[in-house]
Amino acid sequence: TNLTKDSTVEQLIEADKKHFIHPTTVPKTLLEDGPKAIFSEGNGVRVKDICGKSYIDGVSMLWNVNLGFGQKELADAAHEQLTKLAYSSSFYGYSNELAVRLAEKIAGIAPGDLNSVFFTSGGSESNETAFKFARFYWDLKGQSSKKNIISLKRGYHGATIATGSATGIEGFHNFSGSKDSDIIHAKPHLVNAEKGDKSDPEYKDSIRHLIETKGADQIAAVIIEPIQGAGGVHVPPEGYLQAVKKLCEENNILFIADEVICGFGRTGRMFGVENWDVVPDMMCTAKGITSGYAQLGAVLLSQEVRDTLVSYDGIIGHGFTYSGHPTACAIGLKTLEFIEENNILQNVNNMNKVLQKGFDYLVENHPHVAKTRAVGLLAGFDLMQDRDTNTPFKQSIRAARHIVDHCFDNGLILRPADFEEQVNIVAIAPPLIINKEEVEE
Ligand code: PLP
Repeated sequence: TNLTKDSTVEQLIEADKKHFIHPTTVPKTLLEDGPKAIFSEGNGVRVKDICGKSYIDGVSMLWNVNLGFGQKELADAAHEQLTKLAYSSSFYGYSNELAVRLAEKIAGIAPGDLNSVFFTSGGSESNETAFKFARFYWDLKGQSSKKNIISLKRGYHGATIATGSATGIEGFHNFSGSKDSDIIHAKPHLVNAEKGDKSDPEYKDSIRHLIETKGADQIAAVIIEPIQGAGGVHVPPEGYLQAVKKLCEENNILFIADEVICGFGRTGRMFGVENWDVVPDMMCTAKGITSGYAQLGAVLLSQEVRDTLVSYDGIIGHGFTYSGHPTACAIGLKTLEFIEENNILQNVNNMNKVLQKGFDYLVENHPHVAKTRAVGLLAGFDLMQDRDTNTPFKQSIRAARHIVDHCFDNGLILRPADFEEQVNIVAIAPPLIINKEEVEE
């Protein structure tokens, strides 16, 4: 209660320890050490902390600040809408111009017939919505037994009870013991099948096997990130997504693409699934839709799903106060215009080549760097004890954390993915506006 805008860093740190419960953080470490950084400003791909130290943000914070910091056009769009109509509801038939314009814009750029949009406030809400809509869809089709959702181990889909259950990373999945028991996990595709990683060949038939053992009449949907992000930037082998989509079609199961990271240009295409020419039945987005400048998510529905949903003559018992928030939508609209007007996809593809060159250099000069991968600006590599024999570091060696901490100390923010034993992955996902000099730096 004594803090003012002139408080010292030490006072802020003490108040942080005392009053601020941080998400996805080890509380004990925070209590002992205080926050790692208190960020206070940003410009382009760089952020500064309150002590004045500058960092290149190599992961766009949480893979979301895709257009970088300090984009005046986004701030102006927010200011204009905040002063005109900061908020209005879209419940009970109310609407607002910005939500309509953004929904139409998204329908225009989405693949296939994903022409309708349900707005949320973020990725978890988007996936939660898709799960509910999938189950409701089958209810309306007279197939109420279709309730199960299949997700992949190592996938990340959010932190609500259902999306945390779908998340295949143990720490999130098991937290608090709350589980949606209708969600089941299949084995994930390989880390880098094209480069000869043969660690778990069963992945190919895992979803098929679950469908056969559970029965297709029990399964509502399969949810997959086109490229797994938080689990360690795992790119599916060629043909994988197409095969899963086909399997879903053959078994009357909806295919949900979790595009929360991949969506809106991250992979060099507007949506991740476009890299494999797959059109899902529902597509869940958030993060890059506003470049992190406001809390917004959007679930895109195919014509068939939409038509079935709107055939219902009761109330759709689902929605959030901030569904279709006009200020968030104004920022979303400006974000999409910015992506188009500034050829951001082209930049992502150009910078991918610069990043690949950097990877070549690392592989040549660093014996522990292995399995480099980059689709657009969604990238990562493994750290291995011996990459020639595919031998991981011993469990006690947290190689990815060492590297990420070292980079942080030296002004570069990266992200470790080491949720599984003996897995040491470093993820890289810089803002999509990054230039050649910045990638090289
Ligand atoms: N899905 C994916 C692929 C994500 O990466 C995330 C967040 O990192 C989510 C869903 C959850 O989004 P949110 O944290 O906005 O709820």
